[in-house]
Amino acid sequence: MTTQHTSSYYAASANDTRLRPALTGHESADVCVIGAGFTGLSSALHLAQKGYRVRVLEANRIGFGASGRNGGQIVHSYSRDLDFIEQHYGSDTARAMGQMAFEGGRVIRDFVARYDIQCDLKDGGIFAACTDKQMRELEAKKRLWEAHGHEQLELLDETGIRGRVGTNRYVGGLIDHSGGHFHPLNLVLGEAAALESLGGVIYEDSAVERVEEGDKVRLHTANGSVTADFVVVAGNAYLGGLIPQLASRSMPCGTQVITTEPLSPETQRSLLPRDNCVEDCNYLLDYFRLSGDGRLIYGGGVTYGARDPSRIEDLIRPNMLKTFPELQGVKVDYAWTGNFLLTLMRLPQFGRIGSNIYYAQGYSGHGIASTHLAGRLISEAISGQAERFDVFAGLPQMPFPGGRMFRVPLTAMGAWFYSLRDRLGI
Ligand SMILES: Cc1cc2nc3c(=O)[nH]c(=O)nc-3n(C[C@H](O)[C@H](O)[C@H](O)COP(=O)(O)OP(=O)(O)OC[C@H]3O[C@@H](n4cnc5c(N)ncnc54)[C@H](O)[C@@H]3O)c2cc1C
Repeated sequence: MTTQHTSSYYAASANDTRLRPALTGHESADVCVIGAGFTGLSSALHLAQKGYRVRVLEANRIGFGASGRNGGQIVHSYSRDLDFIEQHYGSDTARAMGQMAFEGGRVIRDFVARYDIQCDLKDGGIFAACTDKQMRELEAKKRLWEAHGHEQLELLDETGIRGRVGTNRYVGGLIDHSGGHFHPLNLVLGEAAALESLGGVIYEDSAVERVEEGDKVRLHTANGSVTADFVVVAGNAYLGGLIPQLASRSMPCGTQVITTEPLSPETQRSLLPRDNCVEDCNYLLDYFRLSGDGRLIYGGGVTYGARDPSRIEDLIRPNMLKTFPELQGVKVDYAWTGNFLLTLMRLPQFGRIGSNIYYAQGYSGHGIASTHLAGRLISEAISGQAERFDVFAGLPQMPFPGGRMFRVPLTAMGAWFYSLRDRLGI
């Protein structure tokens, strides 16, 4: 039986609840994609637009992973910003990655417009500063992004941010007018329908159990197989041990989200008068926004090693009330957890295994825009234009220290240190 979506607000308000069949028998394709999240479907859709015959194998349901559960916030650049990239990998790499750092959001807007995807897309993403130090960092971010050609940024002083976020928690912020938010499961479902309209086929409940490498790659599921010229591995934090070398370079982490009951129009206006989305600047950050039907969606918390906390609401509600104390009596209708994939350098990992298996993973918490970019770059590389893909593929991909047993405690200790630093404002 097909695994159902996690019991999220998104699953409860999905536009498309059709089940796709599981793979049976043998098929062939130009490209076979493992995983129907944003990485897999952006790759598949870009390839189908170029005329490739594409099959997608999804272990559970379309959007079952992070892509159907996330905060829905378009955040540009990468989890480590372009100044870090320049310091570690040089100015040529930083320049090349800078030219692509704002493209993922444009890919999303292009898909939404071209395929008329109904996903409550709204403009405007705010980075909120809790301390003066964070505000200085946001001023530096603005200068950095502008140096890489991104112009839709505006600094908000304390009064400015109060006009957009109804809390006294923040000393200021930075709004990216080209950021924004949307219903992620409805976006991924819309991308799936777009792919199907171009002749692509998606199989649900079709976990790839074995990869047989060769001039053509053969992927085996429980009841069938697909032979393809190219394979795209897009299982990210849900891939498990299918490809051991990818598992050793990354670590799944859980983050949790709650969604309130629908709020009155006055309450919505008092919390987020301009309907922007917000993430704060702490290492273990809070992120929130209104849904299309006026609920507050509030996320935060990171569980290292991807454990499901039994009481997500108990974990996140105090953060929500710290930001918006007036929500004291408001009911939480949904609470869920999802896994993103952390890498040691907090930069995405793109690459090839042999000459015909491509992968992209490890967006380290900021993946909505980068997954859409990744799909475009994979499609370029498969169709013979690999320059942009190879900028990412050239970044070193280090294993987590401590191996499987110690990588969780070591990274948790690192997170504890950074969050203590945030709390002390140093
Ligand atoms: C709770 C949460 C909130 C987040 N909020 C934000 C945010 O606001 N902004 C932002 O930029 N990023 C956010 N992220 C990160 C972002 O959601 C992810 O980086 C992104 O969705 C990853 O997409 P993906 O397609 O690579 O992986 P996923 O969406 O996880 O998809 C992988 C898919 O592969 C399938 N799969 C795995 N193994 C196999 C197999 N063997 N065979 C077949 N299929 C397989 C899985 O079932 C799954 O459907 C958040 C993440 C979480 C968990």
